[in-house]
Amino acid sequence: MLIGALRSPNPDERRVGITPDVARRYLANGHRVTVEAGAGRAAGFPDDAYREAGCDIGEAREAEAAVAVLPPDPQQLRPGSLLLGLLSPLDDPQAIAALAERGVVAAAFETLPRTTRAQSMDALTSQASMAGYQLALEAAALLPRVFAMMVTPAGTLRPAKAAVLGCGVAGLSAISTARRLGAVVRAYDVRAEAAADAASLGADFINLDLAPQDGSSADGYARTLNEDESSRLLAALTPHLWEADVVITTAAVPGRPAPLLVTGDAVRGMAPGSVIVDGAASRGGNCELTEAGKTITVGGAAVSGPLFIESRIAADASRLYARNAYELLKYLTSDPPPAADDPIASGAVLTRDGEVVHPAVLESLGGGR
Ligand code: NAD
Repeated sequence: MLIGALRSPNPDERRVGITPDVARRYLANGHRVTVEAGAGRAAGFPDDAYREAGCDIGEAREAEAAVAVLPPDPQQLRPGSLLLGLLSPLDDPQAIAALAERGVVAAAFETLPRTTRAQSMDALTSQASMAGYQLALEAAALLPRVFAMMVTPAGTLRPAKAAVLGCGVAGLSAISTARRLGAVVRAYDVRAEAAADAASLGADFINLDLAPQDGSSADGYARTLNEDESSRLLAALTPHLWEADVVITTAAVPGRPAPLLVTGDAVRGMAPGSVIVDGAASRGGNCELTEAGKTITVGGAAVSGPLFIESRIAADASRLYARNAYELLKYLTSDPPPAADDPIASGAVLTRDGEVVHPAVLESLGGGR
């Protein structure tokens, strides 16, 4: 099979879907690999590194399977080919319909089941781990004080107090990074079961006296809170934020805008020099004042809404992503192919035979096409 690595259509997205090491694995399995010129450069993998691995550099238009990070232009792809990527199927179902029209079989990481069996293919998890790590580093870089306690001849500096909101994969990674840097970490999540995860990494869970206590949905993700629940949550959470030097937010509900957890009043009540890093900036933000892609100052507190956060550590983010893509591609193209009701294949595959076939995408399109 001819496998292609696509160049990112957006210069801010620096990750690449095939690294030279993973290309070697494809080649060792008898495939050929073509990499679009410059596809890996921004992640630290120049064309020569791919050539040394045995890849061709050129157009990926003839590829029978293409690995992307962001959704590509369908015209770039060969009809009948398989496409793997972070395709934002629920945010942009029209783009998936355009891939179907082109005759492309599109498979998205966002709709893969988060099961143990699919773990090696789970790019949401690998990339969220990268994002959480980098969010904590961004916060440390913006904070005008140290994270770790320091004892010096000139005096002792107390450790920074960090609050991490949202204890999914990214939040847990932010907790462990902030802890490793020496901060004292508190954490909050609307899912009751997240308390044990946060505590196991050394965070002190913020227990809010709310009813109902649990905001989990049947699928294990959080549900959207109603207006009353949300305003009670904000009132109870805000005083805890005023005690923090650093607030890192990662809260999300799949397919929905990011939940509000940090109001303008919460920001204005924080001490000058405090820092809020909003990991949900691309989905509207967890903080009311977040401006996506910018760092602003409000009453002495910095509010940062970084975009493409994984791209700041694009080499390692790409290494993990490329391995996830390798495993998913191997799975989908296995011989015999996965059965029609296979949960991994039917979760990931969005289009087939010129049609959108994934129920959630069909629903987003408004009942089908
Ligand atoms: P996510 O990115 O959708 O959400 C991030 C976090 O935000 C979640 O913990 C969520 O509970 C939290 N959140 C949502 N609304 C909130 C609010 N109003 N206030 C505070 N927090 C709020 O989640 P994710 O990191 O992709 O994954 C979370 C779920 O997926 C968990 O149940 C996790 O255990 C599961 N998961 C399972 C596996 C597996 O291998 N079985 C792998 C990865 C994730």
